[in-house]
Amino acid sequence: MAASGAVLAECLDLLEAAVAPGVTTLELDQMAEEFIRSRDGVPSFKGYHGFPGSICPSVNEEVVHAIPGPYALADGDIISIDCGVTLDGWVSDSARTIAVGQVSQVATDLMDATRRSLAAGISQARPGNRTGDIGAAVQDVVERAGFSVVRTLVGHGVGRSMHEEPQVPNFGQPGTGVRLEEGVVIAIEPMVTEKDPEVVLGGDGWVVSTRDMGLAAHFEHTVAITASGPRILTRVST
Ligand code: MG
Ligand code: MG
Repeated sequence: MAASGAVLAECLDLLEAAVAPGVTTLELDQMAEEFIRSRDGVPSFKGYHGFPGSICPSVNEEVVHAIPGPYALADGDIISIDCGVTLDGWVSDSARTIAVGQVSQVATDLMDATRRSLAAGISQARPGNRTGDIGAAVQDVVERAGFSVVRTLVGHGVGRSMHEEPQVPNFGQPGTGVRLEEGVVIAIEPMVTEKDPEVVLGGDGWVVSTRDMGLAAHFEHTVAITASGPRILTRVST
């Protein structure tokens, strides 16, 4: 899984460097697929429940699951890129939100709070802790920053399949939920909104957007629960 995660981390680094005004989300998708296949991996998203792309490039008020297409990124946009890699049958899952050119202060603050909430959640990913410890840590950082946690979409176990038990909500009470055991691997993925946390499904049956059209950010890592603490598998240096 670490090998899979390393390919995914490199892929997201590549995409982040390519994000610029004028680049289309389909171009980013093709870049991702080409890179993953060049490393003998398979884009996990492609064909998953019929999803057509290798990435989910969700822009501005889009939270997750956007389909790649002809939209050209504009200065001031934020884009959340979610991607999965399957290598030798092992899946990794990671996302990050990236600024396109100069973005607003609120967009910067939203991305920063979401990134910090992921770090806080990861710090709770230890044997003996529970999923509620992760959710509570994420929620605390997000709400202190004045933003909202999406409730209807959650993190998850990951391994041979992309979505396994347990569910890992981004909210909750410490000491509640499923107990985390050594050797379990989970995807922790706060989805955070500028205003209200309610989301709506788009007409294409895939894209999930904020109902009030406020901005959304999404950061995700695949994290192994080990005796010595959380090990982030979707970073270039783990
Ligand atoms: Mg993901
Ligand atoms: Mg995920």
